[in-house]
Amino acid sequence: MPSVKRTDIPTAQDIISLMPSPSKGDLAFLTKAYGFAKKAHEGHTRFSGEPYFLHLAETAKMLASLGMGSRTIAAGLLHDAVEDTEVKRDAIEKEFGNEVLCLVEGVTKLGALKYRGLSRHTESLRKLFVATSQDIRVLIIKLADRIHNMRTLEYVPKTKQKRIALETLEIYAPVADRLGMGQFKRELEDLAFPYVYPKEYKETTELLKQKNKETEEHLEKIQNSLRKELAKQGITNFTTEKRIKGLYSIYQKLKRKGGDITKIHDISAIRVIVPTVNDCYKVLGVIHGNWRPLPGEVKDYIAFHKPNGYRSLHTKIFTGDGSIVEVQIRTREMHNEAQFGIAAHLSYKSGLTSRLLNPNLVWIASLLPKRIFPGKQSTKADALSRSELSIPQWIKQIAEAQADVKKSDEFLEDLRTDFFSHRVFVFTPQGDVVDLPLNSSPIDFAYAIHSDIGDHMSGAKVNGRMVSLETKLQNGDYVEILTKKSGKPTIKWLDLAKTTFAKKRIRAAVQKTRNA
Ligand code: MN
Repeated sequence: MPSVKRTDIPTAQDIISLMPSPSKGDLAFLTKAYGFAKKAHEGHTRFSGEPYFLHLAETAKMLASLGMGSRTIAAGLLHDAVEDTEVKRDAIEKEFGNEVLCLVEGVTKLGALKYRGLSRHTESLRKLFVATSQDIRVLIIKLADRIHNMRTLEYVPKTKQKRIALETLEIYAPVADRLGMGQFKRELEDLAFPYVYPKEYKETTELLKQKNKETEEHLEKIQNSLRKELAKQGITNFTTEKRIKGLYSIYQKLKRKGGDITKIHDISAIRVIVPTVNDCYKVLGVIHGNWRPLPGEVKDYIAFHKPNGYRSLHTKIFTGDGSIVEVQIRTREMHNEAQFGIAAHLSYKSGLTSRLLNPNLVWIASLLPKRIFPGKQSTKADALSRSELSIPQWIKQIAEAQADVKKSDEFLEDLRTDFFSHRVFVFTPQGDVVDLPLNSSPIDFAYAIHSDIGDHMSGAKVNGRMVSLETKLQNGDYVEILTKKSGKPTIKWLDLAKTTFAKKRIRAAVQKTRNA
């Protein structure tokens, strides 16, 4: 066991001082939540031997530094109170209001979902994760909670470490990525990496150690000549920084490049941050005027942002001494978004100035069935015309409502979505999640599991009881399919099936019987 750790617990003042402009009301509200949570967890300790309350104060601190509002921060302080202590939900509602209670309960519900490591169902679990949270703030609290748990994973019993770390890699990091929260994603991945792939972690660290010695100095040199060149061209309002790619992300790329580290050119990069989009292109011009770019490696993510909303210009240049360096050019706003993603939009800091359309929310659309997006003429205002997705009305409404929102908490409330009501999430007897369109029947479920199971289905049990095949599955149902060798689809099943896949298989099977 590692020795007992002693970290100072952040005070209420530490947390509040991270808020951009806390009101007197915020101060009173958070001081009360702080005291309440501290008392509720009195006597509880973490695996590290530290007071349990440390975990809550650290979670709240992270939320405050993301610019979240006081209700979200309070929920961060209280997120384990209902589950782990004597505190009743009524008490939270009475003291802190219904909204905080909803957030706390949302986080508690998410805690009940466990990743079981079956990759076939991973995507469904990610969706369920998002659907269950209903409110984007619940996800953000849960991510902050997980980051602190990962930072202290070394104290957790060995038998649990790997499951938690794997769940972090498979569920939490991808969710953070889709929310555009690059900094969270990277930290989650790098904390989980050594527990999930210890051997690969060591190898990657070794490889990088050798390479880092050279790159550090080299990068400094390039950065200096870049700064000089920009100044010469009259560009003076800019900052630069060096960035080293996350370890897990390097490992992933190594796998794609057959383990050859010399083929990875973006391990280290130089970032140039400028005030306007115009400046970004100017800087790119200066760079390409002085260093030869690698053909095919110039990426304009400003005109065509990544699906999670990431924007930046990327280029790779020959530095003249045989090496290649990546340069990323972006505005301050893009930089904040790249690190904090959706949180940057939700925080009060930028809540008033955000653009009409929030590209970070568009990924949610990919979780919804296509038919609910009526095709839409593309306009200049949405650079999404190239993507497959058209913009669902609700995202536009949220974006428009954002313009006259005063506080992030009010805005966030509007994000509570019922859009996932277009999908149902049901479980196999083993507890794996399967997602299906609304009004799906056991027939759809059977075919989603395996076409053979569908083809030989003789009956179905939902939550342990026999049901008719006409039954419409509900969120959270446990479904078990009974099969018989002689079982086969009938033409009537076509009316009961919702999914295209099931219908196709049924048609084929019925055809075969007719021809026989
Ligand atoms: Mn927690």
